[in-house]
Amino acid sequence: MQDWVKTVPKAVLHDHLDGGLRVETLIELANEQNYQNLPSTSHDELKKWIQPKPDKSLAINLEAWEHTIGVMQDEDSIYRVTMEALEDLSNDGVVYAELRFAPLVHTFKGLTTSEIINSVVNGIKDGMEKYDIVAGVILCAMRQEQNSLEVVNLCIEHSDVIGFDLAGPEVGFSVLNHSEACALALENNINVTLHADWEVAEGIKEVVLDSNARRVGHGSQIINDISLNGDEISFQSSAAKYVFDNNIALEICPTSNVQCGAYSNVSDHSFGALFNAGFNVTINTDNRLMSDITMSEEVNNVVESFGLDEKDILSITRNTIKAGFVNAELKNKALEKVSTLY
Ligand SMILES: [Zn+2]
Repeated sequence: MQDWVKTVPKAVLHDHLDGGLRVETLIELANEQNYQNLPSTSHDELKKWIQPKPDKSLAINLEAWEHTIGVMQDEDSIYRVTMEALEDLSNDGVVYAELRFAPLVHTFKGLTTSEIINSVVNGIKDGMEKYDIVAGVILCAMRQEQNSLEVVNLCIEHSDVIGFDLAGPEVGFSVLNHSEACALALENNINVTLHADWEVAEGIKEVVLDSNARRVGHGSQIINDISLNGDEISFQSSAAKYVFDNNIALEICPTSNVQCGAYSNVSDHSFGALFNAGFNVTINTDNRLMSDITMSEEVNNVVESFGLDEKDILSITRNTIKAGFVNAELKNKALEKVSTLY
C-alpha cells in the first residue's frame, strides 16, 4: 500500500456497526456475557470462520451477524463497539464516518429502543471528542420486516440520529413495501439513504424516484443504465439521469460487492467507469469485520485498480463529506481537515 493512502483524509458513509467489531472484542464480550454460541473462542479460528475464504468459494458469512448482534444486547457493549469503531476508523485516517445499525435487533435482553439508540449516540459523542473524528448514526429498518414505520418514528424522536436506511435482502423484498415509512421520513425532514444493491434491476429507480432517497446504498449497477462514448454519457433510464443530474451520492462498497459475487475483482468493478463519467461516487467498507477490510485497504484497491491519485481521493473525500447527513457545523469541521490540502 502506498504511504499516502493510509494518511490521506478519508470519509465513509456506509459502514455497519454490527459488521465492524474487532474479533477480540467479539470474544471478550462473549466471555463476559457467558454467550456460548461462538463457533470458536480462539482469535485466529474465529477470524478465519467469519471472514471470506481466500479462494472466494464462499461469499460473506451471514451467520456471523447472529454473533455480533448476539453480544450487543446491553448498553455497555453497544457503547464499546461504537467507541472502538470510531477509534479504528480514526487510526486509519478517516475524518468523517457514518455508522448504521438496526436498533430493533438489540432488544432481545430487554433493552428499550431509547436505551439502545442512546448507547450508540453516546459512543458517537464521546468517540468524536476522544478520536478527533466527525461521525453520525443512521438507523436501519430491515426490508423483510414490517416495522419500518417504527424505525422512522425512532429517527424522529431521537434528534441525534442523522438518517434512515432500509437494509436486508432485496430480492423479493422491495422498498416499495415501505413506502409509508419513506413518506413519513420525507415529511419529517429525515435524511434517507436506501440500499439498492446489484441483484434488483429496478432497485435504483425504486430508491431515488419512488422513495425520494437522497443517497443510494451501493448502486454500482447504475452502469447498466448508461452508455459511455468517450466523454459523452447517455442515459437509458430516467433514474440514472436523475442520479447524475442531482449529484446523488452512490455509496459504493467495492470489496463487499466482490465478495458477494457481483464482480470477480475490484478492477472489474464499475467504480472506475462511474468515477470517470462524473457520478458522485464514494468509497465504503460496508462491513469491516465480515469483509476483512479497512478503509485504507478499500481506498488502496480503488487507487490501484483505476489509477487514481491523492488529488482524486481528496476530491472524493470532500464530495463524501458534502453528501453526509450531519449538521452543517459538523460537516464544516470535517471539511476543514481536507480544505487546506490541494
Ligand atoms: Zn450495507
